[in-house]
Amino acid sequence: MSVARDLYRLQEIDLDIESKEAAVRQTTARLGENETVLSARSRLAAEQTHLEELTKQQRALEWEIDDLSAKIKAGDKDLYSGRIRNPKELSDLQQQTNALKERRSELEDRALAVMEEVETSRRAVTGLTAELRSVEQQWEADQKRLTAELAQLKETLAGLRAQQQQVRSGIDAQTLELYALVRQRRGTAVARVEQGICRGCRISLPVSELQQARTGRLVQCESCSRILYLP
Ligand SMILES: [Zn+2]
Repeated sequence: MSVARDLYRLQEIDLDIESKEAAVRQTTARLGENETVLSARSRLAAEQTHLEELTKQQRALEWEIDDLSAKIKAGDKDLYSGRIRNPKELSDLQQQTNALKERRSELEDRALAVMEEVETSRRAVTGLTAELRSVEQQWEADQKRLTAELAQLKETLAGLRAQQQQVRSGIDAQTLELYALVRQRRGTAVARVEQGICRGCRISLPVSELQQARTGRLVQCESCSRILYLP
């Protein structure tokens, strides 16, 4: 086995570890994230408060209407009792009762409007309650899935780290140092050579470099300094 091949294998493992570590970070960040649940909950709470206020308004209007109706009933009773004979007094009473009826009619219109608002708000509360339940269920399912994904990722990572150690133990310290250095500078340290071209920088390699690489010796690309690997 050539060193270049070992390094290429190490690079594959290292890149895999990097991407799995990124996935662990991402999954960990998403675990416990419950903004959608909180937002659905607060929208429901706001609508419930709105409904309570409307119901209070509705009740207050009904009480006022009942109160007016009692007064009107008493006024009508007096008017038609024949007990009051004074025309001025009668006409005053008539006017008062009419004013009360007008006021009641206004309040009844308002009560009707509020009743419609109450109905609309009730439907909204029902809808938002269902939405919250569905969002919560989705969240619970997501948490379960993410937890399982995280466990799987960690297991895979442990396996990869063991492989990484194994491959590294077969490579001498100086070569590992070179690998780390090029990797730091270029992102990847080893480049495959395909049809005489360095896949790292896509430049045609001189024949002498290719020949050296073919012997299994450690050769770096002249242009990008990556370690060349001929599969
Ligand atoms: Zn190159």
